Amino acid sequence: MALKQSAYERAFISPNILENKMSKLESALKRIGIGKGKVVPPGDIIGCSHMDQVQEVSPSADGCEDCLKTGDSWVHLRICMTCGHVGCCDNSKNKHATKHYHASEHAIIKSFEPGENWLWCYEDEQLMV
Ligand SMILES: [Zn+2]
Ligand SMILES: [Zn+2]
Ligand SMILES: [Zn+2]
Repeated sequence: MALKQSAYERAFISPNILENKMSKLESALKRIGIGKGKVVPPGDIIGCSHMDQVQEVSPSADGCEDCLKTGDSWVHLRICMTCGHVGCCDNSKNKHATKHYHASEHAIIKSFEPGENWLWCYEDEQLMV
């Protein structure tokens, strides 16, 4: 009888595929300015227990809500998947997305950049794509 494999085990059976996925993810991580998180194979949400915080949200603003108030600029935008707060990334001077997490304990953000669909869990330091 075949044992049920986890997504992780399946990924490791094809090292080349995994390597491709990992280098893609690593460049994605570099691009978004998240350096020290664990990298998880696409589709794998093992280890994140905060998916119940994810709601259907509408963006609070077209740009970083807090930077717009002060006239500051940002690099990339992130949206809180619990309340829709739009904030700027950690490459931006004000790091409003991370500040929002610390203030609200809303653990999961999504990229608010066109064409980017990844989620990031602050609690578990996991990228989910
Ligand atoms: Zn989590
Ligand atoms: Zn900001
Ligand atoms: Zn929020």
